[in-house]
Amino acid sequence: MTGIEALAQRLRAALGADQVITDRQELRTYECDGLAHYKVIPALVALPRTAAQVAAVVRACVEAKVPFVARGSGTGLSGGALPHADGVLIVTAQMRRIVEVAPDDERAVVEPGVINLQVSKAAAAHGYYYAPDPSSQQICSIGGNVAENSGGAHCLKYGFTTNHVTGLQLVTPGGDLVRLGGRALDPPGYDLLGAFVGSEGTLGIATEVTVRLTRLPESVRTLLAAFREIDQAGAATSAIIGAGVVPAAIEMMDVLAVEAAEAAVACGYPAGAGAVLIVELDGPAAEVAAQFAQVTALCADNQAFEIRVAADDAERALFWKGRKSAFAAVGRISPDYIVQDGVIPRTALPEVLRRIAGLAAGHGVRVANVFHAGDGNLHPLVLFDDAVPGEAERAEAASGAIIDLCIEYGGSITGEHGVGADKAKYMPKMFTADDLDTMQLVRCAFDPDGLANPGKIFPTPRLCGERPGRHRGGADAAWPGAEVF
Ligand SMILES: Cc1cc2nc3c(=O)[nH]c(=O)nc-3n(C[C@H](O)[C@H](O)[C@H](O)COP(=O)(O)OP(=O)(O)OC[C@H]3O[C@@H](n4cnc5c(N)ncnc54)[C@H](O)[C@@H]3O)c2cc1C
Repeated sequence: MTGIEALAQRLRAALGADQVITDRQELRTYECDGLAHYKVIPALVALPRTAAQVAAVVRACVEAKVPFVARGSGTGLSGGALPHADGVLIVTAQMRRIVEVAPDDERAVVEPGVINLQVSKAAAAHGYYYAPDPSSQQICSIGGNVAENSGGAHCLKYGFTTNHVTGLQLVTPGGDLVRLGGRALDPPGYDLLGAFVGSEGTLGIATEVTVRLTRLPESVRTLLAAFREIDQAGAATSAIIGAGVVPAAIEMMDVLAVEAAEAAVACGYPAGAGAVLIVELDGPAAEVAAQFAQVTALCADNQAFEIRVAADDAERALFWKGRKSAFAAVGRISPDYIVQDGVIPRTALPEVLRRIAGLAAGHGVRVANVFHAGDGNLHPLVLFDDAVPGEAERAEAASGAIIDLCIEYGGSITGEHGVGADKAKYMPKMFTADDLDTMQLVRCAFDPDGLANPGKIFPTPRLCGERPGRHRGGADAAWPGAEVF
């Protein structure tokens, strides 16, 4: 019996036969996340239903020295949930219980497989919602959100996932079930909760999450402003923030992204727009009314040629429909595309967008831009046709050059999609070897055996306990068997 067969037998006994998958065809379902050009078939998939079962799976992996990877809904865009060919994929999709909604404490306690939007739905009856809203919120899981420190359109005002998680139950990479934080804020000692959020499955597996609930605003007002030039939309964004207004969201789409959204969902954005801004304000009605007038004037001052104000929830939903469908919509105008994710200081938007256009022209590819303008989080979509020889390589080169640009302007290689398998290669561009060694110390403190999601975040890291100065491969070094398409 192979090691994996023995492990499968042990897990079937601990979990139940229907919660362990070893059939190769069935395993293929899990071979990639949202970044579908990396594919690895896992050796085994476990579908635990409880925290105790997650702990049992991890303990079995530790004893067998088998690597394991957590997976929520598999919508990640950096290959974070890419399986390990010799490892176990631990899927939380059967852990979808909302344990408690506690409006008096402004908290909800949920299992990790709960879908993001379900938290808001459960809280709505009490006048609350869960603020972090990735565009994938209808399908992504809270566990995945925690691991990626996910953002969304409304994180400009309300902050990322890390600002909304107050407590965690998790299984450590050693297989212990522990708690960090709780309902109260800011426990003494090191901020281990902060370290875990955004750790991309490398510090353990979240099995229960306590999140902050936010009171539904008294008033929400949304406008859509159309500009002839993308520079004008960038300048309007800076002017709005510079005026001291913090909208709930400022989202920008350029001409190609608008074209794609129109083709996909007929959102009826103004014809002839070189860029569109969606600006949403929320809060007390009187404050929103005053700031809305200010935002409208600032858009007009920056040459918006049309400003539409959503008259009701239906029109507001239509404004957002174009934006929220934009990633998938790009498939209407290009057979293939790379979704890039980088950050720049907001004030550099006009200049960086001009340079991205130059890079696109230089590499002979088209780039559509749809992004969270308010916090400078770019999502350039690099379009290409894989059937045209050399185009995929040029698109990849343009995509990498965009990341270099973000670093040059003092930004970051990722805003919200994480490093995962895809961007580990860019980490040395942003951090020194000493920086990376220091991060490795944190990882090794949680996971001395290097079994939790190996090969992600760090480029060919040193093994735990290895002295700095030499690099060598090992269980952590790569994702054996990865096919890159
Ligand atoms: C159309 C589309 C739009 C998107 N829009 C946004 C957006 O606006 N903002 C944004 O931030 N992201 C966005 N994303 C990316 C993605 O949806 C988020 O990263 C999301 O948080 C991933 O959740 P998931 O459940 O799919 O996680 P998965 O893809 O399954 O996993 C992601 C990472 O989390 C780890 N993980 C999963 N569950 C756990 C757990 N319980 N404990 C520890 N680690 C775990 C995995 O190992 C992996 O490293 C978008 C994706 C798509 C496809």
